[in-house]
Amino acid sequence: MSETPAETRSGFAAVVGRPNVGKSTLINLLVGEKVAIVSDVAQTTRNRIHGFVNLPGGQMVLVDTPGIHKPLHGMNRLMVDEASDTMRGVDLILFMIEAVRPTSGLGPGDRFVLSELPRDGPPVLLVINKVDRVRKEDLLPLIDRVKDTFPFKEILLVSALKAQNTRDLAGKLLAYMPEGPPLFPLDQFTDQQERFLASELIREKILHHTRQEIPHETCVLIEVWDESRSDLTRIEATILVEKESQKKIVIGREGSMLKTVGTEAREDLERMLDRKVFLKLWVRARGGWRDDDAILERLGIRRAG
Ligand code: GDP
Ligand code: MG
Repeated sequence: MSETPAETRSGFAAVVGRPNVGKSTLINLLVGEKVAIVSDVAQTTRNRIHGFVNLPGGQMVLVDTPGIHKPLHGMNRLMVDEASDTMRGVDLILFMIEAVRPTSGLGPGDRFVLSELPRDGPPVLLVINKVDRVRKEDLLPLIDRVKDTFPFKEILLVSALKAQNTRDLAGKLLAYMPEGPPLFPLDQFTDQQERFLASELIREKILHHTRQEIPHETCVLIEVWDESRSDLTRIEATILVEKESQKKIVIGREGSMLKTVGTEAREDLERMLDRKVFLKLWVRARGGWRDDDAILERLGIRRAG
């Protein structure tokens, strides 16, 4: 006699919201591994990141979207298009805002994302994040201001950073997934290629150490990924910036900045790949790279249409 398999659910959930509201933090919390880059600098997530949440009741694939915002450059417009595409192809949308301006409700950035939410698409939950930053009595007025801006199926109040109200969150979200078997192997936590994660890791170090000086005008291209030696992975990468002055900042006095970035990135890469890494970094100034199709393609940002 064959056993009847227990009913499981599986599907995709997209996390959308303006930059910096805490999308990556929530995904990392739910997945339990660091898959999306978290940074104070807005807009560090450029590609979709798939994080896998495996539960006894099924599997949920979380999709991080590039921060949706009014397009300025060719790259940013592509990112908005990607996010809009993503939202139509998932089973659930989590629209995230942050609870830092309890009296004014949605800011202009939030309203732009709201306007991009598909009206005839999958169910949308409103996630109000960073509740650790406001007083309890400020939350009700905030909910009042935002609850009727869209036909939200539910309103969730969480702190992704402090893990408040997140204990049964994954299970709650899974209930929105259709019935079905897991879509991916259960030991996988991300389907992003190691190379992409490596370039994001390096970029995170640059953003962290240069802060205001190098805003979003940098990207990292992996040039060499050599695993021919069994005991070590050799990685060479080019850091592209827009201006010569930015190149000077990234290199630092007598190469000190590049050395710090390289050392920290190598240590993280060794942890991620679980083996020794030889990392060589180059810095090049190249004006207008954000509108260069060939470079965007290498970064994994696809042209829409
Ligand atoms: P994303 O751009 O929406 O992906 O935002 P991130 O996940 O990168 O988070 C942006 C910043 O907000 C980071 O400094 C996070 O540590 C911080 N953050 C995220 N969630 C919370 C939260 O619940 N409470 C507080 N106080 N900060 C948070
Ligand atoms: Mg992010």
